[in-house]
Amino acid sequence: MENLSIEVKLTKEPKVKPASDQLAFGTVFTDHMFTMDYTEGHGWHDPMIIPYEPITIDPAAIVFHYGQTVFEGLKAYVTEEDEVLLFRPEENMKRLNRSNERLCMPHFDEELALKGLRKLIQIDKDWIPKIEGTSLYIRPFIIATQPYLGVAPSKTYRFMIILSPVGAYYKEGINPVKIAVESEFVRAVKGGTGSAKTAGNYAGAMKAQEVAEAKGYSQVLWLDGKEHKYIEEVGAMNVFFKMDGKVVTPELNGSILEGITRKSVIELLRYWDIPVIERKISIDELYEAHQVGILEEAFGTGTAAVISPIGELSWNNANLTVNNGEIGALSKKIYDMMTGIQTGRLEDPFGWRMTVEL
Ligand SMILES: *Cc1c(COP(=O)(O)O)cnc(C)c1O
Repeated sequence: MENLSIEVKLTKEPKVKPASDQLAFGTVFTDHMFTMDYTEGHGWHDPMIIPYEPITIDPAAIVFHYGQTVFEGLKAYVTEEDEVLLFRPEENMKRLNRSNERLCMPHFDEELALKGLRKLIQIDKDWIPKIEGTSLYIRPFIIATQPYLGVAPSKTYRFMIILSPVGAYYKEGINPVKIAVESEFVRAVKGGTGSAKTAGNYAGAMKAQEVAEAKGYSQVLWLDGKEHKYIEEVGAMNVFFKMDGKVVTPELNGSILEGITRKSVIELLRYWDIPVIERKISIDELYEAHQVGILEEAFGTGTAAVISPIGELSWNNANLTVNNGEIGALSKKIYDMMTGIQTGRLEDPFGWRMTVEL
């Protein structure tokens, strides 16, 4: 299948590119997109790069009714030497296939998808913004396209990749956020779809986010769906705590999304010989740690922010301030190293970068 050649049809009407200092997140898209179709009995076929445009799908398509869809998110950066770098993109393609598996969707060839992605980036490379902190956000996704109202896996799918130039996540410096511990809603349960990047998880999480925002918090800290006791994630990010000199993060348990930033941060800490432990962490333990003064740092990890420090946690009418509401030294060190590797400012001792040939 990796031998399938990718047909290219270029746009005749290139769009005006936004100024790099005016970019938000996910609002503008480049001139082209990658698409590939799947038909049962025939497999994946017709990989191509075509002008970015709306697509026509039957209103009865399974994706609209039963949410059979998966997605990914990663970024490309341009270096000072005008090289284009991707961060561990093969991990995203692997995870997309794992999400596929959970949603009864067909496996695709990861090499072919990466080839399509690189070719798409080559074509739209002038869209990659260059101001510090900006990047090209990449959104691969797959949707179930068969028109059928029966609840069953689709027999046809479309795989697409779209690109969006995005502004710096931290325009005014890294300000730690206020988080509300969520004690009513849950994001996922063991046996559910929490470990897959699938639309339903995000639709189901919006209510908690809305309630928390109305009370002045930026995100919620999710607890496990069974006992409402163990910490799982923060918003749509994985979460880490530094307690008594050691870093801890919830162990993967079937309901937590296995972040590539999470995995990289763990590998980075081990490389630095900083103790890092994946285990269950209860909210009571976190509260205790704060009370006795050993909760030193807390942060979320994910592609969009890389590191998002937590300055305050509210739980049961208690407000736990972390590191005086300021970014911790280790959080900052991790952020600098991760973004340094991603943007080409620093050496990459792990071989995490992939250079896109231009
Ligand atoms: C995507 C995602 C993450 C972070 O994954 P990265 O690969 O680090 O971007 C964490 N939690 C949820 C729920 C996610 O959807």
